Amino acid sequence: MFGFSLPKLLVLIALIVVVWYGFKALGRVNRKRQAQAKQAARDEATQIASEDMIKCPKCGAYTASLDSHTCEV
Ligand SMILES: [Zn+2]
Repeated sequence: MFGFSLPKLLVLIALIVVVWYGFKALGRVNRKRQAQAKQAARDEATQIASEDMIKCPKCGAYTASLDSHTCEV
């Protein structure tokens, strides 16, 4: 039989609370890291996109391809 006494129960509850809050904190850190990774990926994608852009010699607008670009001036 399990001899559950009040101090043992209190320690058990305290352990559960500690583990619960530990996981919650861990989840928050993971979410933060994921958000940062997402932001970094977005920054990288933006950089690549801007590197691929060509400046139109006529109107100065940046476009991915001069063939598909029509000057808006
Ligand atoms: Zn143009």
